[in-house]
Amino acid sequence: MTELAPYAAHPPRTRGRGFFEPAPAGRNEFERDRDRIIHSTAFRRLEYKTQVFVNHEGDLFRTRLTHSLEVAQIGRTIARNLQLNEVLVEAIALAHDLGHTPFGHAGQDELNACMKDHGGFEHNVQSLRVVDLLEERYAGFDGLNLCFETREGILKHCSLHNARMLGDVGERFLNNQRPSLEAQAANLADEIAYNNHDVDDGLRSGLITLEQLSNTSLFARHLAMAQEKYPGLGGRRLIHETVRRMINTLVMDLIAQSTENIRAAAPASLDDVRNAPPLMAFSPELANEQRELKRFLHEHLYRHYQVNRMSMKARRIVRELFGALFDNPTLLPPQYQEKARTDKARTIADYIAGMTDRYAYREHRRLFSIEEM
Ligand code: MG
Repeated sequence: MTELAPYAAHPPRTRGRGFFEPAPAGRNEFERDRDRIIHSTAFRRLEYKTQVFVNHEGDLFRTRLTHSLEVAQIGRTIARNLQLNEVLVEAIALAHDLGHTPFGHAGQDELNACMKDHGGFEHNVQSLRVVDLLEERYAGFDGLNLCFETREGILKHCSLHNARMLGDVGERFLNNQRPSLEAQAANLADEIAYNNHDVDDGLRSGLITLEQLSNTSLFARHLAMAQEKYPGLGGRRLIHETVRRMINTLVMDLIAQSTENIRAAAPASLDDVRNAPPLMAFSPELANEQRELKRFLHEHLYRHYQVNRMSMKARRIVRELFGALFDNPTLLPPQYQEKARTDKARTIADYIAGMTDRYAYREHRRLFSIEEM
């Protein structure tokens, strides 16, 4: 392993865990966090949760599990090149989507609407809730008892209202501070991963075409490079040759620009990083190109009529599940009924958010189908 920069997150200097635990043997504090995340129930469920496409539509599309692995891979490359803590980036990347509802953004938007009068629903806050409270694996505490640095990275965004209630990890939103460079790296690796795999999945599904995508400069530029190197190449290989070049350009640009930013700000410690402006960044040119690609995906993929049809059904499933359980909490599994006595809405949101796509679908059928008793 390369030596860590002075401004990286050093495991022995962690701010620690909510419940004291002796230092681990055979691995460092952040390695322990990563391992706890991989062994969690919520992590295994990511396999059956989707981003854009519904899980049973095809085995070829990304799920939140493969997405999280891609984020971890990209994040580790970035971290290694900047002498940051690779394992911390990996831990944050693997945990960043643990709080996602079934059915991607449609599910999350609907659950937020259902929770409008009960504090709302934010998936980043929910990811933190999963690792802080909802996992039931240890005798001595709820959740996974992760280090502060891992938890602050998981909480990518949150409302000021929630920030006030979240204690230590909420403070930076109130004090206008930044998280570690590792957290910043994981966040941007997430962006690189989803933009590129949505291009890939979008093309594969036939919802968007090469011709349409060629109207975005980032894609057009890299398509031209691939075609110049391999004249006559078409089909899947051309798409992969293009997408891997885009990922590489974005990663190298992020490393180069961030190196510049770090050199200019010269942080001597992680505390200096927290008080500096965001140091991890793309160059202005690439940031623009990424924005253009994102706009394209919003217009042509995320709002494609076939995706809208799926989203409509997904929202209905979430809305009806929430409504039925809220009106009649005795329909909840016993372990949730008990919790529902103290906070009914939040307990139902936790239950629904924890569902995989197919579990939510089946649970809806079990509750509403007359044929199935
Ligand atoms: Mg993500």
